Amino acid sequence: MQTIIEPFRIKSVEPIRQTTSEEREQLLNAAGYNLFLIDAKNILIDLLTDSGTSAMSTEQWAAMMRGDESYAGSESFYRMERVVRDLTGLRHVIPTHQGRAAERILFTVLCRKGQVIPNNTHFDTTRANIEFAGARAVDLLTPEAADTQARLDFKGNMDVQALERLIAAEGAANIPLVMITVTDNSGGGQPVSMANIAAVKEVASRHGIPLYLDACRFAENAWFIAQREPGYAEWTPKQIAQKMFSYADGCTFSAKKDAFANIGGLLCTNDDRLAVQETNLLILTEGFPTYGGLAGRDLEAIAVGLEEVLHPDYLRYRIASTGYLGRHIADHGVPIVEPPGGHAIYIDAARMLPHVPKHQFPAQALAVELYRHAGIRSVEIGSVMFGANAKHELLRLAIPRRVYTQSHMDYVVEAILEVNDYRAHICGLAIESEPPFLRHFSARFRRI
Ligand SMILES: *Cc1c(COP(=O)(O)O)cnc(C)c1O
Repeated sequence: MQTIIEPFRIKSVEPIRQTTSEEREQLLNAAGYNLFLIDAKNILIDLLTDSGTSAMSTEQWAAMMRGDESYAGSESFYRMERVVRDLTGLRHVIPTHQGRAAERILFTVLCRKGQVIPNNTHFDTTRANIEFAGARAVDLLTPEAADTQARLDFKGNMDVQALERLIAAEGAANIPLVMITVTDNSGGGQPVSMANIAAVKEVASRHGIPLYLDACRFAENAWFIAQREPGYAEWTPKQIAQKMFSYADGCTFSAKKDAFANIGGLLCTNDDRLAVQETNLLILTEGFPTYGGLAGRDLEAIAVGLEEVLHPDYLRYRIASTGYLGRHIADHGVPIVEPPGGHAIYIDAARMLPHVPKHQFPAQALAVELYRHAGIRSVEIGSVMFGANAKHELLRLAIPRRVYTQSHMDYVVEAILEVNDYRAHICGLAIESEPPFLRHFSARFRRI
């Protein structure tokens, strides 16, 4: 059978609202052509992010009723801790309100000014938190990924030779940790192979440097390994995920991604001394170690979500429906980052709009037009987000988990193909105002 069916049925529905293109033109103007500044009620299909936007299951909602809201020693924490330890093998499980809170605590404790942190590709909050701690974030993505059109299996891999060179140049003492982001969100949602994780671990541990996973999409990465890497076809996604984590000395995790939770994060480590320092900082800004800025019910949702996300029926549907969107637009001439990633499709806006130069933000211009035309919200991953560090000008269409149906995806395909037909008429943007950090969230633009 070819038809992708959602492996769930719908018990509770949420209306979405149509607007006219004239209304959307006015809304865009008022929002300074920044889709982060448009109210959600004015969005028809929201592909801004897959973060915190998942639909929870009946089991998650049921578990939330069991949430133990005790300040100290909550049962919900211990349930979540058991699931995380079983999955990651990491001893210390520190809850945080989001992934970035885990990052801030980790880098505050581990980094000194002038130090360097390599990653396949740093996510925007990861880079910002490293830079805020006075350290330098270096992306060491495999050179194969530079060609957005190459259909290779593991374009999220780290360049292991470049890591060796970086360690030789900077000195191991100046590199407090090596990170690998699975899947590589900012690099197209591309997976990292088990062999690459193992190779990076070998280099890092030879130099006495701990390896951390930015594990936000560990389950989607595990599914790609099962499908693409020789030797793993018979493994369950959970077994693969456990093996991925077996190479890690610690991890950061946003529960808003592959835990189907609406909020939450984790910082895990096997280092007892580090865990004490991290917990001290946690108490200062997030909360007591058995809740870390979350409600007991959130910890329950995470515990259940981490098990559900590894179900093969779910992962098969998840990756197939992302691929469906990607193939249907790419096969009709829209340049995407190939092959389709796990959680999102990335349109190569520099290729689609060759008449809009990089300094006029082609991906931002395309995001604005897709909203104006069809009420679809997407996000720029390019020069607006990363400034001079941007390698590509991408428009990301992130797909919330278990939220939209096949017909919603068909609508998105149709809208993108219509915009593609008149792409020569799309004009660039100029920045009118911007904040000092993470400017994509609040910068304002004008049309050129
Ligand atoms: C979302 C994300 C983060 C940050 O997590 P938040 O919960 O949004 O703070 C870090 N790394 C990656 C790869 C992410 O996708």
